[in-house]
Amino acid sequence: MSTSDHPDITLDSLGDWRADRGCGTLRSEDIGRELTVIGWVDTRRDHGGIVFIDVRDRTGILQVVFDPDDDAESHRRAHGLRSEYVIAVRGKLAKRPPETLNTELPTGEVEVRVAEMKVLSTARVLPFPLDDEGDAGEAVRLKHRYLDLRRARLQRNLVARHRATKAVRDYLDDQGFVDIETPILTRSTPEGARDYLVPSRVNPGSVYALPQSPQIFKQILMVSGYERYYQIVRCFRDEDLRADRQPEFTQIDIEMSFVGTEEILGLTEGLLRAGAAAIGAPVPEVPFPRMTYEEATRRFGTDRPDTRFGLELVELSDLMENAQARVLAQAVQEGGIVGGVVAEDGHKFSRRELDETVAWAQSIGAKGLAWIRSTDDGWQSPLAKFFDEGEREKIEARTGLRKGGVLFLVAGPRKYAQGILGQLRLRLAEMLDLIPENQWNYLWVTDFPLLEYSQEAKRLVSVHHPFTAPREQDLERLESEPETVLADAYDVVLNGTELGGGSIRIHRPDVQSRVFAALGIEEGEMREQFGFLLDALSFGAPPHGGIALGLDRLCMLWLGESSIRDVIAFPKTQKAHDPMSDAPSPPAPKQLRDLGLKFTQ
Ligand code: ASP
Repeated sequence: MSTSDHPDITLDSLGDWRADRGCGTLRSEDIGRELTVIGWVDTRRDHGGIVFIDVRDRTGILQVVFDPDDDAESHRRAHGLRSEYVIAVRGKLAKRPPETLNTELPTGEVEVRVAEMKVLSTARVLPFPLDDEGDAGEAVRLKHRYLDLRRARLQRNLVARHRATKAVRDYLDDQGFVDIETPILTRSTPEGARDYLVPSRVNPGSVYALPQSPQIFKQILMVSGYERYYQIVRCFRDEDLRADRQPEFTQIDIEMSFVGTEEILGLTEGLLRAGAAAIGAPVPEVPFPRMTYEEATRRFGTDRPDTRFGLELVELSDLMENAQARVLAQAVQEGGIVGGVVAEDGHKFSRRELDETVAWAQSIGAKGLAWIRSTDDGWQSPLAKFFDEGEREKIEARTGLRKGGVLFLVAGPRKYAQGILGQLRLRLAEMLDLIPENQWNYLWVTDFPLLEYSQEAKRLVSVHHPFTAPREQDLERLESEPETVLADAYDVVLNGTELGGGSIRIHRPDVQSRVFAALGIEEGEMREQFGFLLDALSFGAPPHGGIALGLDRLCMLWLGESSIRDVIAFPKTQKAHDPMSDAPSPPAPKQLRDLGLKFTQ
């Protein structure tokens, strides 16, 4: 039966044919062997009477040669082969003639002289070429993800990810950890994002939440005496997506009993070394440097500083308090700050680039961004007229502004100003090409505040999650000055990206109740939502703590990719859509009826 539009192609069955070796594994020492290889037609070249095909499997590419002198029948059929047909060939491995040697290919010295061929499968014309440099849009690639995943780069990524995952499992196993699964259909775990909800048919009117993390379950496992738990687990968060976020993502989730921060940091450093080595990324030196949250936000404007370059923030509040520039002075008088960043090579910026930078700052929420250019003719700035010589000298001394440089200033509440300057710092580093390649700055950020005021929620919220332990010495201020209480929490950061975080947990029910109360969770709601945890803590809970690391993000950084979609087999788009299976999709009316649901929009 002909299954293709090409008259010469009929499909064969595999029968007892099996590949002896992967295509990409053959070398000159194998010359002379009779063998079978099976794979996809990568490229085809018709050279006069001879047909050359590159056959590809996951180990690589191998040239096979159809010569009528070797086998006339195979040669005749070879004319009908097209890209991505699946074929099996038998023949002898030969040395390539000098003119066809390819030093760029590991198999570039050898070729199979085909004595027999089977065509196992045909393929329609491809929607996009599979070569690695192909720039087909992501939408079409994700729609045909099965083809996209054939590309060498993605194959390399997924195999490398497997190796890293295995190394992590082996490492944790060696350290006495037990892999325990926790439910996917569960109750909400507060990690600060929206939940994905699953309506329950057998409990009309009720929903499960998909876990934002297994946080409560892993703590309960500690109460149950498992001491060292880990899981490589899918987590679900319904939030706005970016290049390094997916609605479902994978965490290396860890919890330990009878330990303090030091043991958890040490274990995590060892784990990152094992993973990096397995994936082929540079193995980091340990221990990693540490920085408190206060220092990170003060110097870098963020709790995940990229320390590969300078451009540190400076504070000028005391110099601006009585400045003639009203906006600056007013910010300080109202309890805020004036902060700045100096770009030493700022003379490279055109006026247009400066204006664009101001517009960009406004687009990320800045009310204003001032700049001062120091030139041979003195200061150039819309603000220049407000500062006399003495003031200028003080500002230059404080900030390090020299001729050729540009000082950017932001004024307002501390957190806001640091946030804008922190992002500006990254943008300037990119504009000025200051970010060194092949540098891997791992860093611990410690001493986070336990709680922060949320303008949106109009109440205190957890900086990590509500189960994070306040530092013992700060506990007495939990009710009186809650925002000054620091937590036994830590995040690990690589080149400005948060790899993960964790904390020592609250293991006393009375402290847990006080933290819930500080978060404005009332007694009834507390029992309703977390009664089971409070109960568990009241039955002999060991002191415990843990951490979770984002596996997708880790692999992305280790492999030098810029999107986590390139290290996930079946990712979703920025709109949480899977173009291949077209999920999510409207439910059938019967499904809605069964669940007792009605969509209102
Ligand atoms: N559950 C936390 C998270 O998902 C990690 C931890 O505290 O262990 O971020």
